[in-house]
Formats: sequence, structure tokens, C-alpha cells
Amino acid sequence: MRHMPDTPDAPRIRILDPATVNQIAAGEVVERPASVVKELLENAIDAGAGSIVIDLTASKETITAIRVTDDGCGMAPADAQLAFVPHATSKIASIDDLHRIRTLGFRGEALATIAAVSRVTLVTKLRGSGAVPGTRIIMEGGQVLETAGTGAPDGTGVLVEDLFFNTPARKKFQKSKNTELAHIHDILEGICLSHPAIAFHLYYNSTEQLVTDRTNRTLDTIARLFGSGIIRDLIPVNASLSFLTVNGFVSRPSLARKDRARMIVSVNQRFITSPAINDAIKAGYGTLLPKDRFPVAFLNLTLDTTLVDVNVHPTKKQIRLSREKEITEFIRTSVRDALLTHDLIPAAESPASMVTLVPGLPEKPVRSYDLSTTTAPGGVFESTHAGTAATDQRLRQTELSIDCDPTHLVSSLLPEIEVIGEFGGIYILARTSGDELLLIDQHAAHERILYEQVTGQALETRPSQELISPVILHRSAKEAAILKDLLPALAREGFILEGFGGDAFLVRAVPVVLGRLEETTVIDEIISDLVSEEAAQTVSNRERITRIVACRGAVKAGTVCTQEQSQRIVDQLRRMKNPFTCPHGRPTMIRFTRKELDTMFKRI
Ligand code: ADP
Ligand code: MG
Repeated sequence: MRHMPDTPDAPRIRILDPATVNQIAAGEVVERPASVVKELLENAIDAGAGSIVIDLTASKETITAIRVTDDGCGMAPADAQLAFVPHATSKIASIDDLHRIRTLGFRGEALATIAAVSRVTLVTKLRGSGAVPGTRIIMEGGQVLETAGTGAPDGTGVLVEDLFFNTPARKKFQKSKNTELAHIHDILEGICLSHPAIAFHLYYNSTEQLVTDRTNRTLDTIARLFGSGIIRDLIPVNASLSFLTVNGFVSRPSLARKDRARMIVSVNQRFITSPAINDAIKAGYGTLLPKDRFPVAFLNLTLDTTLVDVNVHPTKKQIRLSREKEITEFIRTSVRDALLTHDLIPAAESPASMVTLVPGLPEKPVRSYDLSTTTAPGGVFESTHAGTAATDQRLRQTELSIDCDPTHLVSSLLPEIEVIGEFGGIYILARTSGDELLLIDQHAAHERILYEQVTGQALETRPSQELISPVILHRSAKEAAILKDLLPALAREGFILEGFGGDAFLVRAVPVVLGRLEETTVIDEIISDLVSEEAAQTVSNRERITRIVACRGAVKAGTVCTQEQSQRIVDQLRRMKNPFTCPHGRPTMIRFTRKELDTMFKRI
């Protein structure tokens, strides 16, 4: 047996010495260099700093030193010594204070634990202490090496070197320097966005990396951090309840990303990570985004402090919310309402509007549209007779069922649109009454129309239309098994299929929106899509089938429409509740304003 004491009667349990306790605690608070940056920044913010400077020093392989300097309240000599004592804090006196906590720190752990696993030099001077000198304290592995009076400006500077020098296991687990730098950037972005009124400067080996100005406009901070190009695609969100205010920006769907990294949320000016809040923001987009796409969002929540428990984890990155359901539901509807009341057409990439907001900023490319795969020439409408007839068939179907209530048109989210041409059988060229040029993806647009038409029917079972001659489908054994399970769900959506012996099926009827299907291949495509998609689905069967029907029933890309047909698509699209994206979240249109075009041509 391990840890066997020398004498059998001696106690085996011992109380750990404070240095060991601190090193263990450090494991929770100080995971990596970014944790040091976070804790020091939080202390500077709590000290009321107006300007904070972060200096990182790195060798080829690792970050060797982190210094955070602030112009905050500073510390008197006695406080400076107490600051390194575990559980010493000026921020709370008892647990009750946690319910009204306004500071970022409260556990009194950070400086003690950082000092336990590194070499720390603190220089501080109490603001307004006049002739009384400042204090310098040097700590190493939790031991005080030096305490001295020193000349110093008001405020505090903390230098952390040789992180994890005495905890080799932790040191070994550090990722590459670039990974650690990325984590530091993430922390800094979150903190800058939750404190736009503080100026932040980041230096890396003495080279300036990032600057934010003191501002009361979060947009300025966003532009500093991510480039001003992003701003045109942001929509403001401002909404409040008695106990909750939501302020900030969410992106147009066109700016969506594959990850959640740019959903940056703070609660009472604390940058946090909350899957529940992220989910609520995403839910606000509904079908504007596919399930594996995430919006860009910068939201600051102001919440009654009694409803937030920040004492969940030593790093204070997670929170627990009381009334979480109400809060997340309000976030969802705030985001949704903001999206519904704003123009969601992605603006075309133009060099013009970028510079107007924050002069002198580098522009980071946010996205670009690659049209290079389009080979067919465009401009004139050309079409075969048979093709025109088939397209007509598809369009008529959607026109018939769209509700022609004129009030619907009045409330259109789009201006009047006149079709002027087409490009490659894929894009419709149009101009708006607002003197803008639109490029419309004809397939995406028609897909949206079909989708809203189907979902507009609040029916348990959707109407179906019998085929003039039933279609026989043959499937592989595996697909047939999947399809058999789906038959009841398909019937509810208007597909009447029967087993036809072995792995064959007879299709008797299809949803009315698909019309008098003459192209039986569409049925085959729809069924293939259904059985080929992965079994693990997050959307309901109904939603999945609807999207597939919309996609397969819509006019295909590459089908050349007549000008009149294109105009009909556009007119139908104008009546949609959500004309800006297809059900998968891709944009239906891109807009160029006259001004943007003029600027591109250097007319202004
Ligand atoms: P906490 O922030 O949870 O109180 P810390 O260990 O981070 O614990 O800091 C301990 C105390 O040291 C703080 O409560 C504060 O009084 C003081 N302190 C730390 N950093 C600063 C700073 N940059 N400026 C002024 N006081 C500071
Ligand atoms: Mg702290």
C-alpha cells in the first residue's frame, strides 16, 4: 500500500502546507497564460482603470512574460502586501455581498495563486497618496522575495514571469505559443467589448498589436477588433424587461460562421461563456440559419444581480441564471425581432463604406462572393419552349397558393423590384424603387417561397395531390428500411407511398405544392435526399421534409427563366415573411446601392 506511515498508529491524514494548497488552487484559477491575462485585466478594471496596457514577451517557443499596467486606484503599502494572501479581497466582506456583486473579482485568489506558480513583480501606488511612495513587491513560488518603497505613477503594474516554473506537469500541458496567444486574444476581445469605456493597448514583443479607444460606442470597439467592414452586416439589438436589458449587435445571416467563436456575450460587464445564451441567440434566427451555422453576435446583458450566480467556477467564466427560461426566451425574441425589422439583404462588398466609420482602420476581408464557377453568359433571356413550360408549371403552383391579401404586400420587407436581366441561368438582375441593383439567386428565392408556402399551412396533415400515373421507386435494402420508417411522417406531409413488394414503393400522391408533377425525377430526388441524410437529426421530420420539398420543388439553378418568369419569382418573394434567405440560411439576394457602385467606379 502506498503512503504507509512509518509507525502504524501515526495519523495518515495531514493538513497540507499553505504553499501546496495554493499550488493546487492555482490549477483551477490559472490554467494557462490567458488566465493570467484575464485575472490581471479584471483586477485593473475593478480598480477603476481608464487605460490598461498589456505587454506580452515571448521567445520562439513560449510566452515568457505578461505585464498588465493600469491607471486605476492603486494600493497603499499594507494592502499591496495583503493582496498576495490567499482569500484576501477588498471586494466582498461576506457571502451576502455576492448577490449584489458589481466587481469582476471577489474570491481573493488570483494574485495568491498566480504568485504561487510564477515570479511576480508588483509595483503600485495609491491614487491621491501624494508624497507617500509606491510599493514594490517581488514574489517567487509563493514566497516574498522583496518588499520595498519605490517611486511609481498612480495605479498598478503586475509583471508575471516564468509561469509554471515550479509545476512542471502543468507547464508540459501548455499548447503551442500561437494557441496560447489565440486564447489571450479571445479573452481580450471579450473584455474589450464588455468595457468599451476603457482604452486597451496590447503589445507583443514591444510591437503594438491592438488598440481600443475610450468610447461609449460599442461599434467603435467592434471595428477596432474585427475591422470596420463587419459593421455593415450588423443589426442593433436593444430590448428590455424590468430585470433584464439586452444591448448589442447581431449579424445578418450572411455573416454566419461554422463555429460559435464570434458569439461574444457579457452579463453585467462580465465576459462569460453560456451555451444557453448562445443557443437562445441562435434560436432567434430560426430558419435564417442552417443548424450548423452560427451568427456573429456581440451582446451585453444587464441583469438584476440577484438573478446571476457568478460563483460557479473559480475562473468565473460560467454563470448560473435564475429564471433562465424567461431570460433566454427574451433573448431569442429580441434577436428575432431585430432581424425581422431590419433589412437583411447582405450589402455587396465595396471598398467605400468601410472607411467612413472609423478612419484609418485596416480592413479585414469578411467574405467574398466567388462567381468564377459560372460559365454561361448572361444578359439576354433565352429559353427552350419545353423548359419554359416546366418552369411555368413550377411557378404557377406557388402563385396559386400564395395568399393574395393586399395587406400582405403593403407590409413587404422589400421595396418594389423590377427585373432587368439574368446571368448564367442562376442570378436574376433587378433594380429596386430605391435605386439599388439586386442580384437574386433564383433557386434560393423560389425555395424560400415554397418553404413559406408549406409552413404557412398550419395543418396536422398537409394536402396531397394524386399523381395521374403512380410512380414506382426502387431502393436498396438499407434505404428501403429507412423509408419504411418514414412512411407515416411522409404521409403527414402529403406523400402517399405504399410498399410494392421487396424494396419497391408505389408513390400515389405528392404534396399539393409540388403541383402536377410531370417530372417524376423530382420525386426520386426527394426520396433519395430523405433516406440519405444522416440518422441523427436535430430538426424535426416535418422541418426536414419541408426543406427538401422546397429545395427539390424550386426552379433549379441553371434553368433559364424568361424575364416575365423572373419577375414572377421576385413578386412572390416580396410577399414572404422572410425574403432574405433560403431555408438553409443562404442569402437570396445581394444588393449594391448606387453609391456603392459609384464608389467602385471611382465616380465619387
Ligand atoms: P480579487 O480580485 O478576487 O479580490 P485578487 O487576488 O485578484 O482577488 O486581488 C486581491 C486584492 O488585491 C483585490 O481585492 C484588490 O484589493 C487588490 N488588487 C489587485 N489588483 C489590483 C489592481 N490592479 N489595482 C488595485 N488593487 C488591486
Ligand atoms: Mg481579482
